[in-house]
Amino acid sequence: PYFQQVTFLSAAAQLKQAPTDCGYEVAFAGRSNAGKSSAINVICQQRHLARTSKTPGRTQQLIFFNLAVENRRLVDLPGYGFARVALSIKLQWQTVMASYLQQRVSLRGLVMVMDCRHPLTELDRQMIEWSQIAALPLLVLLTKADKLSRGAMEKTRLAVQRDPLLFNATTVEVLTFSAHTGQGRDAAQAWLAKQLEL
Ligand code: GDP
Repeated sequence: PYFQQVTFLSAAAQLKQAPTDCGYEVAFAGRSNAGKSSAINVICQQRHLARTSKTPGRTQQLIFFNLAVENRRLVDLPGYGFARVALSIKLQWQTVMASYLQQRVSLRGLVMVMDCRHPLTELDRQMIEWSQIAALPLLVLLTKADKLSRGAMEKTRLAVQRDPLLFNATTVEVLTFSAHTGQGRDAAQAWLAKQLEL
């Protein structure tokens, strides 16, 4: 029920433009086109909350959403890994992401959205490393599960779970997810509720 009344709060190009660092928030990260906006929309049961877009790499801002409960937020982080982005933008992204993940006190968890057909790209790993330095609980959403057979999906899930980067991490959950079928939605909501202490 907490996720059905999520509303837009603000956008920030830099950390200093972010809302006051109090309360609890969980951030969503992922490569452009991985399915992050679709995942946020399904979790929040709204069609147009996070913009789903076919022009990857467009938004370079942190988007903050309010839950109906006071001082609880979801954050949509800029998508990454789009080849045609200028180096200066890539460097800016690194600075903003590293400082957000390591300095934001109200940040209580990170959701990494990955296309189940291309999990754990180099920048996914970079994000996970930063989040591990901050000891953030991590949820890996292997989305577009509807694109793989059950057997292939299970194989992928196990491979991700057993990857040394995640195997040695502090608190990690790996979920198969689909914005099209709703698979994994309840489990993702439960994980978010736990990190946000709802
Ligand atoms: P973002 O760039 O990570 O926010 O990705 P989007 O949510 O905009 O999704 C990128 C593309 O993948 C769009 O064409 C979506 O319709 C598609 N997509 C997203 N989630 C799913 C899913 O669960 N299953 C399938 N088959 N396609 C999906």
